Amino acid sequence: AAADCGPLPVLGREVEVPLVGGEKVAYAALDYAASAPALQRVWDDVAAYAPYYGSVHRGAGYLSQLSTDLFEQSRQAVADFLDLREDDQVVFTRATTDSLNLLASALPAGTRVLAFETEHHASLLPWRRDGLTADYLPAPRSPQQAVAALEEALAAAPEGPTLLCVTGASNVTGEIWPVAELTETAHRYGARVVLDAAQLAPHHRVSVRELGVDWVAFSGHKLYAPFGAGVLAGRSDWLDAAEPYLAGGGASRTVARAADGSVAVEWHSGPARHEAGSPNVIGAYAVASACRALSETGFDALQAREQRLLARLRTGLAEIPEVQVLSLFGEDHARVGVLSFVVRGWNSSHLAAALSAEYGIGVRDGLFCAHPLVRTLLGGTADAPSECGAPEPSLPGERSLNAIRVSFGAGTPDEHVERFLAAV
Ligand code: PMP
Repeated sequence: AAADCGPLPVLGREVEVPLVGGEKVAYAALDYAASAPALQRVWDDVAAYAPYYGSVHRGAGYLSQLSTDLFEQSRQAVADFLDLREDDQVVFTRATTDSLNLLASALPAGTRVLAFETEHHASLLPWRRDGLTADYLPAPRSPQQAVAALEEALAAAPEGPTLLCVTGASNVTGEIWPVAELTETAHRYGARVVLDAAQLAPHHRVSVRELGVDWVAFSGHKLYAPFGAGVLAGRSDWLDAAEPYLAGGGASRTVARAADGSVAVEWHSGPARHEAGSPNVIGAYAVASACRALSETGFDALQAREQRLLARLRTGLAEIPEVQVLSLFGEDHARVGVLSFVVRGWNSSHLAAALSAEYGIGVRDGLFCAHPLVRTLLGGTADAPSECGAPEPSLPGERSLNAIRVSFGAGTPDEHVERFLAAV
């Protein structure tokens, strides 16, 4: 009987991988937090459009106009998916990292950026640039502590533009952050908020109107579309006032040689300002297709399955005494289908390699581009020196330096979770 994979089928379910003994097994992808498989529907949409694509915004020809229409409709599909406000804009980027770097480049000079040290490096590092001040807040151990720490930092803040960058769901623990409360606090002090929704958007409805955040960033490849396209969406004022992220054709309205020999440029406002060059129309189309599929299916149906699988995973892991599940806000805090753990006495990298070689299961090991967070969770301090991939202790009782992350979502059959638990 065909496995029950839920309401949104994904690609890649039939891949067979060889195990160490030579036997073959259907690959179990439990690494959605890194990149999720594409939805079948996204693939079908892209395949139907691919023969007809052309370069947007330039041509009078039929295919160029078709692509321009589809590109702009894709923007609208993303705006609908995120429940954007009337004046918000959708800029297509390469992925979340690119989106947050774009925003960093567009912040008014002197902006103070606040971020918890527990952020993914993509939310932690773009603010370290000339003209900005990056202030990192220590790891909170509860949502209330996070809100209180933000309030304290804002109350002590100097005048001037301030931005909070916060992740909606952790790529390490899967824990959901109190985004609406943090945003309400930030706004009371006149600060703005950008939400890193890379891990939240694939699992949860993200309504910009309801959360109140000023910008949202996410990646297509974690949202069941292929690589190469992401989104920065939100308030237009700072984006329209900034120098273009990339200088070039498409971003410029007019370019003229001035009398003094220099070149005078008038830049576009709106998304084109930050999308210089020939945009990734297929990528944007794929992201829009995923957004439509997720909206039409609804997160209720996806979450019901996902939370059932998560509960099974938690119960199964709880039966293995050596397993320690990592959590910042406590075991019972709400999370998406992302979970990291260590097995006492085991080297996480060896365990992850064995899961692949002996069971055909793909997971991830390491510090997951969130070094300060994982060090804190493993019982060290956020600044203890250890490298991603450093040699692990393998004696029982020694502290792990690395963890294993298992993550899943649409299309994950029960069998993958059962195989994973049996293997661990
Ligand atoms: N933020 C979070 C929370 C993430 O999990 C990731 C990817 N692991 C990123 C940002 C960066 O996304 P990308 O690599 O697609 O730019």
